[in-house]
Amino acid sequence: MVVTKKNKVPAPRVVRVEDHGITAGKIDSDAAYVLRKLTRAGYKAYLVGGGVRDLYQQIFPKDFDLSTSASPSQVRKLFRNSRVIGRRFRLVQVFFSGNKIIELSTFRCRSECEDGKKDQVLAANNTFGSERDDAFRRDLTINGLFYDLDREAIIDYVGGVQDLDDKIVRVIGDPDVRITRDPVRMMRAVRHAARSGFRIEDTTWSAIKSHCQSLSVCPVSRIRDELFKDLHGRACGEWIRLSARSGLLGSLLPFYDDILTDELVDELGSLMHSVDLAQAGGGLLKDDILLAMLLLPWARQQFPELKGGLKTGDAFALSRVIRDYLKKNMGHLDIKRALKEQISTTLTLLPLLVQNSKKDWPKWLCKKSYFNHGLLFYSLVNQAKGGEPVAEYLLPKPPKVSKKSAPVMPPQSTRGRGPAYANNKRQGGVFGFRRS
Ligand code: ATP
Ligand code: MG
Repeated sequence: MVVTKKNKVPAPRVVRVEDHGITAGKIDSDAAYVLRKLTRAGYKAYLVGGGVRDLYQQIFPKDFDLSTSASPSQVRKLFRNSRVIGRRFRLVQVFFSGNKIIELSTFRCRSECEDGKKDQVLAANNTFGSERDDAFRRDLTINGLFYDLDREAIIDYVGGVQDLDDKIVRVIGDPDVRITRDPVRMMRAVRHAARSGFRIEDTTWSAIKSHCQSLSVCPVSRIRDELFKDLHGRACGEWIRLSARSGLLGSLLPFYDDILTDELVDELGSLMHSVDLAQAGGGLLKDDILLAMLLLPWARQQFPELKGGLKTGDAFALSRVIRDYLKKNMGHLDIKRALKEQISTTLTLLPLLVQNSKKDWPKWLCKKSYFNHGLLFYSLVNQAKGGEPVAEYLLPKPPKVSKKSAPVMPPQSTRGRGPAYANNKRQGGVFGFRRS
């Protein structure tokens, strides 16, 4: 290609170790092993995404994602303890002891960022690309950084280092286009802003506000996965406020749309802050508790019985009514039947505990198999109202990580070996969008 002034590709900003402080010793040893093995074999390989973002902020990353010029089959040849996953995007997972998994993706092209009709969802021909393309196809500038282990340098094609310094969350490229192509990016922008306390840049914020209803074109499984990342993200208090202000909450839970007042957002903020306190130690609350906390202000308006005393005999009938209501109104999140059942039971336990809370817990109640579960929910709600902190013994325990345990390699599934791209004949784009 002739390099003219017009098509000359600008060089990335290279930030040296003295300016970012991420020495090779700070990289997880297994991730470093994978990176070195790839570069020694002649491929390019970088630590990418959240790992670089977190290390730059002196936070220990929760996972180390890597990106490489090697194709999935070339990676598989180098690492025997690995498997290929994913249908549309093939990733390689390399397994290490202690159930640790290092995920590797091959540089992808940025067909989605190139000019095209603004309203087009991502095209199906999402093929491999250069490292620059791979930076630009990412969601946020702060997630688009590469770390070169050998040079101990950050390679920045997207202005992510400046945005980290300025504490700004910004979608890469034109937010209107990039959000239209993949509306889930709105959820990711809000989550990262809530987690980091960063400000969402103005054009990104306006695009989220105007596109918030388009979440409904995304596959429910992706929305549900992102929602649980939010609920486990330990910044739920701020997340719910940003979601409400941007309009995303109404798109995620439409039954909040009509009743969302400032007072209700404050109530949700306190409930979600209580969730953050409970998960601060590293343990994760169960899904039904998380969703019951999220639904409580709405459920109390919809089912006033939840506010006052409830006879034990009426509790079962009420939980059936709530379950049926959830069945009809939460289809868009594809919540499993059993989980809906658990949410309605958990919500119904609240008035039972409230009316028995004035005295010592009665023996008949303590003996019930659901008592501790109900007590945890009751205590979380009570904590949200400024009451006692949740008792230690009720809190979820952090997962045990054993360094010594043998590597666990799940069986190689044949599903993961399928094509990386959506079938061209099936219109739907690489993220599996439904046509609206
Ligand atoms: P976390 O700390 O939650 O793991 P993360 O940014 O690493 O945050 P992941 O879900 O692990 O989030 O994704 C890894 C990387 O993949 C991101 O940093 C981002 O660069 C890219 N990515 C994820 N989802 C999208 C998306 N919808 N569009 C573009 N890039 C994405
Ligand atoms: Mg990650």
